[in-house]
Amino acid sequence: MKAVQYRAIGAAPEVVTVPDPEPGPGQVLLKVTAAGVCHSDIAVMSWPEENFPYELPLTLGHEGVGTVEAVGEGVTGLETGTSVAVYGPWGCGTCVKCAQGKENYCLRAAELDINPPGLGRPGAIAEYLLVDDPRHLVPIGDLDPVRTVPLTDAGLTPYHAIKRSLPRLGAGSTAVVIGTGGLGHVGIQLLRAMTSARVVALDVSEEKLALAREVGAHETVLSDEKAAGRVREITGGLGAQAVFDFVGADSTLATAAACAAVESDLALIGIAGGTMPIGFGQPAYEVSVNSSYWGSRSELFEVIELARTGVLDVHTETFSLDEAPRAYELLHEGKINGRAVILPNG
Ligand code: NAD
Ligand code: ZN
Ligand code: ZN
Repeated sequence: MKAVQYRAIGAAPEVVTVPDPEPGPGQVLLKVTAAGVCHSDIAVMSWPEENFPYELPLTLGHEGVGTVEAVGEGVTGLETGTSVAVYGPWGCGTCVKCAQGKENYCLRAAELDINPPGLGRPGAIAEYLLVDDPRHLVPIGDLDPVRTVPLTDAGLTPYHAIKRSLPRLGAGSTAVVIGTGGLGHVGIQLLRAMTSARVVALDVSEEKLALAREVGAHETVLSDEKAAGRVREITGGLGAQAVFDFVGADSTLATAAACAAVESDLALIGIAGGTMPIGFGQPAYEVSVNSSYWGSRSELFEVIELARTGVLDVHTETFSLDEAPRAYELLHEGKINGRAVILPNG
């Protein structure tokens, strides 16, 4: 089959032919109908050799939707042809976090060398994807694979972050979204669907800010050193009750900290590697800062249920498998509006 692989440190991803995977006992083979392209892959492909955590070559893609092609020995209850979304942060399935569905925080994944598809294990940007266990699949029925596949990460990750801040986001509150790309433009819609907060979106690109307004942001602000002042103005000087930083650079964290109201949440989701100073009264009193990784298995069911109600309008740009390296280039250049989605089977 054809697959898109990161093959050597610093090299661009390549379309290659690899052996067709076959499902072993307990595994499920999917024919991939759609695979999302996440900015995290660009971060992975910039890591130096010394601390590169995965074996190369690596088939990319940690957002996947497909149809069940074949099941391994012992797998029951999954019919061939069923359309499913893949829960990506695989865990051991037996520890207490996994028992709670929080496989993203599996206690034994490192010890047992369990990795997500596309982030250690062969990923979804290929004609076929091997899934280690049927519990990592969520049936999506007749939902469109292209518009659904980003929900497995670009939807699930903001959903989890927003859900933990719901108590802050009652009527009269303000939520700030920094970075309105793949994750951010879904985050804005989730905030509109799940809360009554006023949503203020920040980005460096006018095109992304236009998308932010289109998907429901009440206000948009260019992300520069004046942005926090604008958010303070919009909120009558008080600041925002929750700030979601989908960039995570020093500069955006500085903005996030300056936007955060007394008794607010500051969620760090982007992995640009920035840090922020913490001191007495800085950020404001009783601000809770947290970083989070992906979401739980049951939260993916919830996001898919929300999509079924028709309130999410995920923007996508589609590419063939052969065009996937170009999709990564465009994402790197900031030229994808919404999420790039690869169609490995035409
Ligand atoms: P993306 O490229 O689609 O979107 C990033 C957006 O940020 C773009 O619209 C870009 O214009 C904007 N941006 C860049 N610099 C900015 C600045 N200084 N101020 C405001 N906006 C700025 O990327 P994505 O796929 O949505 O991923 C966003 C981030 O989240 C990445 O760092 C990614 O690695 C990370 N991520 C984290 C998790 C997690 O579990 N924590 C999961 C998925 C992705
Ligand atoms: Zn991702
Ligand atoms: Zn576990």
